Amino acid sequence: MKSARIVAPNEPLQVSESDTPLPQGNQVLVRVKAVGVCHSDLHLWEGGYDLGDGQFMKVTDRGVKYPVTPGHEIVGSVKQVGNDAGDVSVGDDVLVYPWIGCDNCPACNAKNENLCDAPRSLGVFQDGGYSDYILVPHYRYLAKVSGIELESAASLACSGLTAYSAVKKANANSPEFLVIIGAGGLGLMGVQIAKAITNSKIICVDLDDKKLATAKEMGADFIVNSAADTDTVQKIISICNGNGADSVIDFVNAPQTAKTGVSVLRKRGNLVLVGLFGGSMELSLVTIPLKAITIQGAYTGNYADMVELLELAKNGTINPMISKHYTLNDANSALDDLKSRKIIGRAVINP
Ligand code: NAD
Repeated sequence: MKSARIVAPNEPLQVSESDTPLPQGNQVLVRVKAVGVCHSDLHLWEGGYDLGDGQFMKVTDRGVKYPVTPGHEIVGSVKQVGNDAGDVSVGDDVLVYPWIGCDNCPACNAKNENLCDAPRSLGVFQDGGYSDYILVPHYRYLAKVSGIELESAASLACSGLTAYSAVKKANANSPEFLVIIGAGGLGLMGVQIAKAITNSKIICVDLDDKKLATAKEMGADFIVNSAADTDTVQKIISICNGNGADSVIDFVNAPQTAKTGVSVLRKRGNLVLVGLFGGSMELSLVTIPLKAITIQGAYTGNYADMVELLELAKNGTINPMISKHYTLNDANSALDDLKSRKIIGRAVINP
């Protein structure tokens, strides 16, 4: 099989050939039709995360071993199955759930493998979908896809799924005003999902007018360009009738966006941090109890959420956006284009 692999941080991905694996037992071999290019692939390529104050969290310290094949938003058709693959058959079109856990910790026992203590996620800790084939360790990580275009389901495994669980958290206090920061792959899914499952007025914030225009088309009620507006915080608060926002989802989560998030929260407000751009910030501690605000993180979502999301896509409630296609040989350009903010919504690689 042919794969585009990260051999070392910040080095060009290398396309290499290896033996196509033979599925055993519960395993399933999937012929990859499309794989989403996620900003998290960029962090993996860069070797880790900015912790702020000059500190860097290396992915190798979290258990990643290079070379690794990235790609966790995978759709394809079943090519071959082991001798116990349940109701999965050769030829089925499938979406792969990549957030595989250890099957043995409290999170896995509660069916929240995405929050596992010792994760084995595909495209991070195990080889992923920048490849023409992927060996899925168990048929239970597949969801059959029908009734929607197969390729458009790819982003439901991460950008859609992460946005879905973040919107559910943000919706806990029934927000009248919900701010979504970042109108990239995750943020645009967040806008669509928030429009579909909340009664909120949605305010979307980004640095890029084109992305903001797309957010408006997808259901944002208000858009704010934080690069152009001299006082983003005041602008958002005034949109929220002067009271501030009930909930904020930060799909960027860099110092300036997280500061904006905290500053625009009204009393009892709820801030959900999702992005991994990173850095650090100072918090004025007394404001947290005095305003009784909640600050929480969201990390992808569980298998059941992915299946729910697939239903929302099937009935047309959400419509994942794919704006650009690359071949496996162009994997480096795909990542470069994402880094330089040239992608609206999602790009996919078609191996
Ligand atoms: P993306 O590159 O598609 O989009 C990022 C967007 O943020 C772009 O529209 C960009 O213009 C905007 N942006 C950047 N800096 C900004 C700023 N200072 N103010 C306002 N807008 C700004 O990225 P993506 O694939 O949507 O991923 C976003 C982040 O979420 C990444 O860090 C990614 O690794 C992370 N992520 C987290 C999870 C999770 O489970 N928590 C899952 C997937 C991705």
